[in-house]
Amino acid sequence: MATSLLPKNIESLKAYSSAKSEKLTGNTWLNANESPFSKSIKVSIEDLNRYPEPQPESVINAYSEYAQLSPAQVLMTRGADEGIELLMRTFCEPAKDTIAIFTPTYGMYKVSADTQNIAINTLSQDQLKEAQISELSLLIGDAKLVFICNPNNPTGSLTPVDKVAALAKALENSALVVVDEAYIEFAPEQSAVSLLQDFNNVVVLRTLSKAFALAGLRTGFLLANDAVLNPVRKVIAPYPVSTAVAKIAEQALSVDAITQMRRQVNILNSNKAKLKTWLSNSPKVTQVLCGEGNFVTLQLSDKTLIEQAMKAGTIMRPFTLFGEDNWLRISIGSEQELEQVKLWLEQSE
Ligand SMILES: *Cc1c(COP(=O)(O)O)cnc(C)c1O
Repeated sequence: MATSLLPKNIESLKAYSSAKSEKLTGNTWLNANESPFSKSIKVSIEDLNRYPEPQPESVINAYSEYAQLSPAQVLMTRGADEGIELLMRTFCEPAKDTIAIFTPTYGMYKVSADTQNIAINTLSQDQLKEAQISELSLLIGDAKLVFICNPNNPTGSLTPVDKVAALAKALENSALVVVDEAYIEFAPEQSAVSLLQDFNNVVVLRTLSKAFALAGLRTGFLLANDAVLNPVRKVIAPYPVSTAVAKIAEQALSVDAITQMRRQVNILNSNKAKLKTWLSNSPKVTQVLCGEGNFVTLQLSDKTLIEQAMKAGTIMRPFTLFGEDNWLRISIGSEQELEQVKLWLEQSE
């Protein structure tokens, strides 16, 4: 009986398969772009009988300083994923409005749109890269939200900030340009945050899940001007961030913790360079997409090689890209973890 109550768009949903939803067994986890660095965190909380601050001031202040914005331009969310969903809930009318995405890209834009019955105008990364701004705005049409994942997961490619600015200008009266900067710490000079000075239709998504090594915390941020954040503030749950999460996020954004994060990013970037060399020299690899971000995506000569790695306990993320199912994304782990990848590449047959 309950199923007959389901709206059509919900009934036709396929369960989203995230890197973590499948029950895999392994010992080297390189499939979810997590950081290999984990810190042990101790918190002592005495006021859990009270509701938390809706937007914890200490965290907002620390993040705004880190992002070089004013506190009013920062909204804390349960991961960047909640930011994506909130933007759609706030700006899109179900069964009427459209978002635009450039595939292959991060899967949650589609999941959020599908669950909210929002249509998707699927454009390609090639179009984003090649098309002139006038042509791009025609392709984008009447989409209300335009998602640019920068650097793009899973291809690693970057859209220059100038291009984002030109697009924001062209769409000034018709759409929000949402720049997903989940991996921006790996290429900080490419951030679109400075565009908030000139544009009310630019939104930047951020997370503590990747470079900050806190995927388990579920913390992200929406960065935008009042024109965007004021309406979102009316839609977001009244107490989205628990007291415990706020305490930990505050510690993670201390000056020392940010210095440590930057050191870890340098280590991961050099691990990535090493992995890239191994991959380009391997006969098992036919193509490497190595861009910015804590991952490398490659095409294998033979898809069964993935099972071989899985059997050895090295878990990486298979993808179907550009119509072919022999792609693999490897998250940049510790040197020790990447040694497992090297062993696999060197394994005969
Ligand atoms: C990992 C990732 C996110 C999700 O971030 P959370 O803060 O963990 O929800 C968002 N966007 C992209 C492109 C990602 O790769």
